[in-house]
Amino acid sequence: MKVFITARLPREILAGIALEHSIEAYGEDPPIGRDEFLAGVEGKDGLLCTITDRVDSEVFERAPGLRIVANNGVGFDHIDIEAATRRGIPVTNTPGVLTDSTADLTFALMLAAARRVVEGDAITRSGKFRFWSPFHFLGRDISGSKLGIVGFGRIGRAVAKRAAGFDMEVLYFSRTPLKKDEEEKLGVRFAPLDELLKESDFVSLHIPLSRDTRHLISERELAMMKDSACLINTARGPIVDEKALVEALRHRRIMAAALDVYENEPELSPGLTELDNVILMPHSGSATIQTRTRMALMAADNLLAALRGQRPPNCLNWDALNR
Ligand code: NAP
Repeated sequence: MKVFITARLPREILAGIALEHSIEAYGEDPPIGRDEFLAGVEGKDGLLCTITDRVDSEVFERAPGLRIVANNGVGFDHIDIEAATRRGIPVTNTPGVLTDSTADLTFALMLAAARRVVEGDAITRSGKFRFWSPFHFLGRDISGSKLGIVGFGRIGRAVAKRAAGFDMEVLYFSRTPLKKDEEEKLGVRFAPLDELLKESDFVSLHIPLSRDTRHLISERELAMMKDSACLINTARGPIVDEKALVEALRHRRIMAAALDVYENEPELSPGLTELDNVILMPHSGSATIQTRTRMALMAADNLLAALRGQRPPNCLNWDALNR
């Protein structure tokens, strides 16, 4: 069968797919443009894509024989799953294998924001560190403080696990609260979003982007946070109203933010780069050699299973397809 691959994959993984199918692979930087993507997918049986490719009805019209959309990533807000389901196309993602890497980066950002690591590096490099002083360059403690986790799925829980090592008190908000005994086991407590925002010293976002979560954190929510609080976003940019965030940071309504994702990625809202109380990463939550390799393998396994007529291991719409 014919397969179109837009995600840059390790050579051995491409070779594995090529044993069974004929491949057309893009595999360059920057990501493929829309016209080239539509032309590439035309007449294909399988698509292995990534989070920068918008997969919608237009794509399905160009590839009426498509049997699988295998996404190389866990977030799937760029794929119209309902449209895929209507056409009987399974859509897969790569859950689990990137959980720890993303939770690690979340913690790196949390520590960096609280202890002003990026700012401190810049000051020291520029020769402005001239003496030690007891009340110079102060940050906040992470240890013993209160962490609010928004979205308590795989990554949210992995962040809570790390927080336990820092003796943090953990509140969480999620669509499906845990049972009391599960909460006790993990040492966490459910809180409605407003309560979590008011009480937390650190707020970390781990919900998917959807119609319900777009701008979940806007001016109103930022105003509820403590002026000493830090916001960490390693989920998806549009969950936060970035313009409102710039204003909140500029007027020190919150202490700091650390962002891995942006509302109009890769563009940044005006004013964001001028602030010294924000840390900006280039969407790198899962960017380790080990994790990106595991993701590529998982996406390839999903693709190959579907093209063999089997149930892909990580199918997002299997139940909907088989109703
Ligand atoms: P997950 O296991 O599906 O967890 C998501 C959690 O959010 C679930 O507990 C879910 O509740 C909850 N949720 C969904 N919609 C909600 C809503 N409207 N209100 C409240 N809670 C809601 O996903 P994950 O693997 O942890 O990944 C989370 C997100 O992280 C992904 O969607 C992706 O966008 C992002 N991500 C970013 C990077 C990066 O590079 N920065 C890397 C990996 C992932 P239910 O249990 O009820 O569904």
